[in-house]
Amino acid sequence: MSDSFGYRLFDTHAHLCFDSFDRDLEEVLRRARRAGVRDVLVPGTDPPSSIKAARMATVYEGLWAAVGVHPNEIEAVGDEGMEAIARTALRPRVVAIGETGMDLYRKGSPPAKQREWLRRHLELARALGRTLVAHSRAAEAEVVDAIGSCDPVPVVLHCYTGPVKLAVEAARRGCYVGLAGPVTYRSNRSLRELAGRLPPERMLIETDSPFLSPEPRRGSRNQPANLELVLQVVARAMGADPAGTASLLLDNSCRAFGVGEHRRTDLFYVLDGKMYVNLTGRCDNDCTFCIRNYQDGIDGYFLQHDSEPDPDRLRSGLALVRPDWFEEIVFCGYGEPTMRLGLLSELAEALSARGIPVRLNTNGLALSRIPEERVRRMVSLFDRVSVSLNAPDEESYRRISRPSAKNAWHYLQRFIDLCREIGCGLELTAVRGCGVSMKACEALAGSKGLRFRARG
Ligand code: SF4
Repeated sequence: MSDSFGYRLFDTHAHLCFDSFDRDLEEVLRRARRAGVRDVLVPGTDPPSSIKAARMATVYEGLWAAVGVHPNEIEAVGDEGMEAIARTALRPRVVAIGETGMDLYRKGSPPAKQREWLRRHLELARALGRTLVAHSRAAEAEVVDAIGSCDPVPVVLHCYTGPVKLAVEAARRGCYVGLAGPVTYRSNRSLRELAGRLPPERMLIETDSPFLSPEPRRGSRNQPANLELVLQVVARAMGADPAGTASLLLDNSCRAFGVGEHRRTDLFYVLDGKMYVNLTGRCDNDCTFCIRNYQDGIDGYFLQHDSEPDPDRLRSGLALVRPDWFEEIVFCGYGEPTMRLGLLSELAEALSARGIPVRLNTNGLALSRIPEERVRRMVSLFDRVSVSLNAPDEESYRRISRPSAKNAWHYLQRFIDLCREIGCGLELTAVRGCGVSMKACEALAGSKGLRFRARG
């Protein structure tokens, strides 16, 4: 909760990655927290600022990143910039794509080109399941038209200053509308009218720092601590009390960006130069050491599943990856990937056909559920297979891995033999600290002529 105001606020747009915050960022964040602002979305406007925003989100608590190319930066960035944005979008705590959009007020890129870049950002957002953050200046109708649908990813019209009717219509179609400092300016009566007319569940507030300081701080550098001034005006326009409005807006913000209680599952994550595919949340083991028992993700990624990931999202996300981006693509999951054997085979085959090395991390129990021919075909698609041996004998395997399959140890050994026969790069692994001897596991792997790796 806030120390000063008693609210908890989410500044849904503040360019803390801009150089103007470099010298006093820590102090700016301290002031924000004192003013109740515990979460801030930091959008980039070109590849360098997007990379900086993504890095900041992993360093400072409460920061989330958006990555994109602002319509006024298109010419400076050039076509290859979009590739850098797509790669950065895979980093942890990057929850949105933007700031993109259209700006017909300044004389920048031709409208057709701006529209084309907006479309590319929208495609990226949909492929990765990230929210789209759209700028619109003197081009609100064009942006709303170009976006079309807010399904399957949410769209935020940030710092909206256009016609009331258009915003209400966009909100009815599922867009979130962000109100910033201009709503506090005496001349902007229509924005206060908009605050009163928008469906409340579609409204967000923001500072757009360092720009557009609200009244009475106009003219100074804006910062997230000023968000409360926007809240007060918006609450008054809605005829609601600030505390209730703050709580409504916080929930809207978390929903819009898929954070907090509404946190979205990351289907892809990048560690040590490899990209991992979070294919499933199901598993037929119940290992005593399973990471799912004590944390919901790794290195800032959120990996728990509410439901099984949509195959189309997995397909479109993987289609973005270029062959030279990662050392390999690893199918694992916050679960056992062979639980979705058909989809696993399809995705691995598509990547292999594009020359991208693929690895499978598995518990090795597929043969307990699936006919051998199908398993054989699936294994042959992988360059490398890593099998969780977990124990040097059947009794300790049962104790540690707690398999649901009968004769699991037997199926595991058969799977290992099948992989050897096929000749994929095979390694066996076990986890240290589970009461089994790593030496004994290594000896068992060695007796089969296989490499062994003890995991941390
Ligand atoms: S096999 Fe992997 S996902 Fe399944 S319970 Fe064991 S550690 Fe967890």
